[in-house]
Amino acid sequence: MVYRRRRFTQMEAATDSVAVAPTAPTAARPAKPRARMMRQYDLVERVRSYNPNTNEDLLNRAYVYAMKAHGSQTRASGDPYFSHPLEVAAILTDLKLDDATIVAALLHDTIEDTEATRAEIDQIFGSEIGALVEGLTKLKRLELVSREAKQAENLRKLLLAIADDVRVLLVKLADRLHNMRTLEFVPPASRRRIAEETLDIYAPLAGRMGMQEMREELEDLSFRTLDPEAYNVVMQRLDALAERNRNLIGEIEAQLSNNLRHRGLGARVYGRRKKPFSIWTKMERKSVGFEQLSDIFGFRVVVNDVQACYRALGIVHTTWPVVPGRFKDYISTPKQNDYRSIHTTVIGPGNQRVELQIRTEEMDQIAERGIAAHVFYKEDAGSPTEFLKRESNAFAWLRHTVGILSESANPEEFLEHTKLELFHDQVFCFTPKGKLIALPRHANVIDFAYAVHTDVGNSAVGCKINGKFAPLSSELQNGDEVEVLTSEAQSAPPSAWESLAVTGKARAAIRRATRTAVRDQYAGLGRRIVERLFERAKIDYADDKLKGALPRLARSSIEDVMAAVGRGEIKASDVARAMYPDYKEERVGRYAKKGLAAKLKETVVPGTTPRPPAAIPIRGINSDLPVKFAPNGGAVPGDRIVGIVTPGEGITIYPIQASALKDFEEEPERWLDVRWDIEDTTPQRFPARIKVENVNEPGALAQIATVIAEHDGNIDNISMQRRSPDFTETTIDLEVYDLKHLSAIIAQLRAKAVVARVERVNG
Ligand code: MN
Repeated sequence: MVYRRRRFTQMEAATDSVAVAPTAPTAARPAKPRARMMRQYDLVERVRSYNPNTNEDLLNRAYVYAMKAHGSQTRASGDPYFSHPLEVAAILTDLKLDDATIVAALLHDTIEDTEATRAEIDQIFGSEIGALVEGLTKLKRLELVSREAKQAENLRKLLLAIADDVRVLLVKLADRLHNMRTLEFVPPASRRRIAEETLDIYAPLAGRMGMQEMREELEDLSFRTLDPEAYNVVMQRLDALAERNRNLIGEIEAQLSNNLRHRGLGARVYGRRKKPFSIWTKMERKSVGFEQLSDIFGFRVVVNDVQACYRALGIVHTTWPVVPGRFKDYISTPKQNDYRSIHTTVIGPGNQRVELQIRTEEMDQIAERGIAAHVFYKEDAGSPTEFLKRESNAFAWLRHTVGILSESANPEEFLEHTKLELFHDQVFCFTPKGKLIALPRHANVIDFAYAVHTDVGNSAVGCKINGKFAPLSSELQNGDEVEVLTSEAQSAPPSAWESLAVTGKARAAIRRATRTAVRDQYAGLGRRIVERLFERAKIDYADDKLKGALPRLARSSIEDVMAAVGRGEIKASDVARAMYPDYKEERVGRYAKKGLAAKLKETVVPGTTPRPPAAIPIRGINSDLPVKFAPNGGAVPGDRIVGIVTPGEGITIYPIQASALKDFEEEPERWLDVRWDIEDTTPQRFPARIKVENVNEPGALAQIATVIAEHDGNIDNISMQRRSPDFTETTIDLEVYDLKHLSAIIAQLRAKAVVARVERVNG
């Protein structure tokens, strides 16, 4: 009963301004300057109460060191600055943390704000504590740099720092919590920003680490700052309902524990008031009000072991009617933040809906304190980081996220993904072999595939959900069994998936795969350009020779060099010179003078010219090269074609008669020999442009469009210009299979009475 009362005080204190006995764990203190700063012996006493082996001397030294270091500095509230690190340390004693963490909390602002140095702290407190304080100093510096632009990068650094030693996060959260509790002394503009940041990053992060009490208090303090009106409305209603149900709560607790005791099960039962922010978000999400006791109160049944949890569940279910659809077993399937409990709702005493959470003491600790509970749970656990790696899914998630960091080129994108992942609830799905895959809510099969394995994601072409074929974009539901169908033919995913995927992991992998595919394309193009140059210069090209020249080109691999050539960052002639220092660039002035296009026209006799061996095969747009077609007029198989290399873009294919080619005559190095390489089995369409001169009469355009459609031409774009009262000039962009197809369409158009002239346009 004592425990229960303490609970109540604590819950109210988190939101109301009720003074609290100092023994209450994580009790929210009123946001007013404390009447009396905690004394040295208070702090030591707090630590000793849960850790009899505490190093009192160390704590005392840290207390004195920090107090002296901060000297006469004051906070915005007018309190001595030292009250802040002291309160941060006190919050961490509520989480029952180890000496190093408490000491780091006392010292966390000393390097940044005082004369103290890392070296000095190392010397006095040892390098473990020194490293923690330095980690915290780095984070503090992050907060001082400019806001929006840096937020993403800051989160990156924050996560990287805490993945090293999770105690940095624990101190950081306590630091933020105390700053939030004393937020009223900060100017309104920064107040808002700090509250937003807390709600966006720190509260979800605390939740992800399983630290529910911390999360709830951070949320409620932010809520109160960001939307005071809504906060007050919720609080008033909450108070009124709690008052009305005051007797009922005790009765339910008593009936529950009596019932369990009569069946031989000892249990601690207590009611717990829900938090304003969580009520508010539920009201917003489901647009419902709160009326019943179950809307504002939940009850916990804490027993000794896992078996007892299920026995308690059986007793509850046979005593009161069960509300269907509310049962969840997070003991057999824990949440990703390590949370374990059985949830159920019954129509209990007084005909009230009663929400129950059934769990063991250990689960209860982890549900409230998350990773902080783990850290101190076992003796000889080794370093907290090593221990958590083994024991905690929440920490595994953190490390996983940090893994994504190193793959994510753009910090803004990273921030967006992480925010998404922090906020989403989860769905649990299964592979056909029964492996559990936990995903954020609204995730689809693409996310699932990447969660199973990156290769599975990259080669996914279809899926079955619960045995039925379904699109890869299908949103997953709890309990779905998902079979991903893959194809070796698909080496890279369609880039459009990036916007379909929900998880950061899938998006990062898709982006990486698409990037790799594009890079491979450029490398392929670069290689062909280099080989062509060597062929013209009549030198043998060999990869080994290029390998020796890599340092001269300042590139780390042959692929890198080729991709750089393909992108136009390095000239092929530079590659040749790096390999053969006495290589002289071939002057093609002769060509340039005469006109390269003309030269090519001369030498090419359709059908008879042997293809130059270095000519690059062009297969269409989805080829392994970055290919485009001439923007004004296109090119179709059957045309004699030339490729023009544009650095950073790839090859543009022009028909040899295109007038646009004149623009490139002075740049012979950009010309590439290309040839069509079209498979008959999978016909593709290519762009072409025609100009039609037609009489102005109603329905003329319709006739033209019909002819084209009847002959299987796709119209991409039409633009019209009236040349005279009688005639209109219509420019049509088409997609056709080849020159024969295009010629047939042109012939059919010419046969129409409304058509005066038809011409192909070659840019
Ligand atoms: Mn601080």
